[in-house]
Parts: sequence; C-alpha cells; structure tokens
Amino acid sequence: MTPQEFTHPEDAAALKALESIPILPSVVKKIMDFGVEQMTYGTNMASKILLSPTQLPKLYNILPPICQRLDIREPAFYLEMDPMPNAYAFGDTYTAITITSGLVEMLTEDELSAVVAHECGHILCRHLLYHTIVLSLTDYAPKFNLFGFVTDPVMIALQYWSRKSELSCDRVATFHCGPDATIRVMSRLAGGPKSITDDINLIELAEQADKYDAIRKDGAWNKTLQTYAVLGNSHPFTSVRIRETLRWVTTPEYKDLRAKYPYCPNCYRAIRSEDTFCKHCGNKLK
Ligand SMILES: [Zn+2]
Ligand SMILES: [Zn+2]
Repeated sequence: MTPQEFTHPEDAAALKALESIPILPSVVKKIMDFGVEQMTYGTNMASKILLSPTQLPKLYNILPPICQRLDIREPAFYLEMDPMPNAYAFGDTYTAITITSGLVEMLTEDELSAVVAHECGHILCRHLLYHTIVLSLTDYAPKFNLFGFVTDPVMIALQYWSRKSELSCDRVATFHCGPDATIRVMSRLAGGPKSITDDINLIELAEQADKYDAIRKDGAWNKTLQTYAVLGNSHPFTSVRIRETLRWVTTPEYKDLRAKYPYCPNCYRAIRSEDTFCKHCGNKLK
C-alpha cells in the first residue's frame, strides 16, 4: 500500500507549497530538537491509558488489523479521558494514536475503526512529522511561550497543508471501513450522537459543501472572509469532507484500488481470494 494511492490532489499541492518554504527544514529541526516527542511520550505514559492485548483489549484490537492491512508499524495506542470526541496522531519516531473517551462513547465499533484507520492514514501517508510540528505549535507554544521564531506565514502554510492532509486520510478510512462508516463518523462529529444523527440526509449535508463553495467564490471579499474563517481550524469543514469522500468513491482510481486489494463487499475488511466466508462479518463470499 502506498501513500500515492490515497493522496488527495489538494494535499499534494499544499505539501508542494509548504516544502518550498526555505526556512521550513530549520523550523522542523529546532522543534524536534527541543524534544516535543519525548515530552509527549512522558505525558502520554503518565496521564493516558496505554491500550494493549491485556489492557482494554476490545478497544486495542481495533488497531492491529488496520496496521497489517496498511503495512505500517504499529503505533502506541492511548485512551484519554475527555468528554469531547476526538482522535489524533503524534510523533515522528515514537508514533502514537490517541482516542478520547467521548469518541468511544459516541461511536459504534466500525465507526471507531474508521477513525483509527484515518489516524493510521497519517502514518501511511508520512504526515506525522509536519502534523507533530503543527500540534506542537498550537498546543505547546502558547503554554510555554516557545518557538517564537516561527512566523505567521509559516504557521498558516503548515495549518493549510494539515487541513488538506485530512482529505487523504479520509480516503484511507474509506478504504478500510467503506464510505458509509466513514461518512457516518463525520456526520456524528458534526451533529452529535447516533440518537440525533441516525436519520441524517447525507446527500443534503454534502450539498452544503457546494453552497459553501458558492459563497467562497462570490467575490474577493467573501473569499477573504471564508479564508479567514477557516484559518485556525484543524480539519476541513464536515460537508467538504463528506463531498470529497462521495466524489472519490466514484473515481476510476478508487475502483482500481478496490480491484487490487480483495475485500468483503459487506464490511470492506481485507479477505483472501480463496476465502468462502468473510472472517470478520461472516458474509458469504462465494
Ligand atoms: Zn486526521
Ligand atoms: Zn465482511
């Protein structure tokens, strides 16, 4: 499995722009040399629950099949007590994924799997170094008055790329769990738990992205306002993510990817071509 199979064109373009910034390598080096990874490793170990085959195995067991399928090294996997549903990946050499208790409470198992696959997508697509820089700048810098040498344009370029990189990882989640589970997660994170969002009209929600684009393109001032509105956001707007996912699953690239790696049409998990039944959901394959 390669990053190119999932990279969204807007992610690729934003990365090219980001990497053309001459001082970027020195910014990255200074922040990594400071020891943000070691600092986070310590606080993760001290304050979160490290999931394992013997520590909340039901949650932990979501991770290994995703890593095997994407062919990535398994990151540390943490549970954090936070009622806000959230998940994030951090680290370049000590990679770690964290999910919050709020997320676990809100989502079903296949939806959680989609979230973890999205986070593993950041590892597969080699996003984590720059993501770690963005997280360090947004989380640590204000607390400790660090990294004052990073100028606003560099920060804006990093955050812009970071938002676009999310679109590639939505593709990884879609590959692993199918578009339904992936889009359900997005709608829950925008609108609330299953009890509220179960009957949501996803097509209408995706169409909101077209309305958003229309206002964004309606003259220079509206474009400026909308650019300003999204500036500090970590992710693209939900309707845009849903629309981009729905678009991707109609492309020849997506169909080629599906044909290349055998999968169960019911649960989208990996199967072997000789399997008669899906070992994940029991679906009859032949
Ligand atoms: Zn992400
Ligand atoms: Zn299946």
